Amino acid sequence: MEIVTADRWYRVRAVGDGVTHIDEPHIKPFYRCNIWHVRGRERDLLIDSGLGVVSLRRHVAFLAERPQFAVASHVHFDHVGNHHEFAERAIHAAEAPLLAHPGRDETLATLYATEEMFTSLPPGGFDPPAYQVTPAPATRVLEDGDIVDLGDRHFEVFHLPGHSPGSIGLWEAASGILFAGDTVYDGPLIDDAYHSDIAAYIRSMERLRDLPVRVVHGGHFPSFGRERFVALIDAYLNEKRGA
Ligand SMILES: [Zn+2]
Ligand SMILES: [Zn+2]
Repeated sequence: MEIVTADRWYRVRAVGDGVTHIDEPHIKPFYRCNIWHVRGRERDLLIDSGLGVVSLRRHVAFLAERPQFAVASHVHFDHVGNHHEFAERAIHAAEAPLLAHPGRDETLATLYATEEMFTSLPPGGFDPPAYQVTPAPATRVLEDGDIVDLGDRHFEVFHLPGHSPGSIGLWEAASGILFAGDTVYDGPLIDDAYHSDIAAYIRSMERLRDLPVRVVHGGHFPSFGRERFVALIDAYLNEKRGA
């Protein structure tokens, strides 16, 4: 497999509303985490940080220029691999111990972090048994209803257990933007991980359904609007309630 240089590892594009999408195009779509960045007046918000095989802070230069508040949507390895590079780190209380001690099994790395993830390899290649998330103890532990304040923009924490016990969404009422993590995205949803909980997932989906979203940026796959949001939630609810 081809090896990619570090400067070509990340892809960065502005998506409007002061939001930037960063991803790792050499990882196949199913495994490829969306990294979201929101510029704020006092500090910036970084939601998730990718696999951690190439320094995010070094190779996406604007991240090092201003203080970043690095939130984890949840603790799976594909979302938190570079959190240790940022001084301010936050995660929901239910998964804070895992971010401090990110075991290979608990972050799903043992199951999914294989060469199968890649279309091209990072510099130095990839050694599955050696891969693990670098510990990144939270400097702030989040609970439902907390506000992440960027100075001019405010995001409310929604605790959305189901995919994992500490999954969260971040909701900006003023703009109608929801960062949904792995709870809702436009692709196959995962509710059979070791710490998934289908009954909780159903309740999280019911809670989200009436939210007046304008745009949803999920943990994987392309973003979408309100109509697709409701359709994805209804498809999940219909399947699980019927089961
Ligand atoms: Zn996940
Ligand atoms: Zn994910």
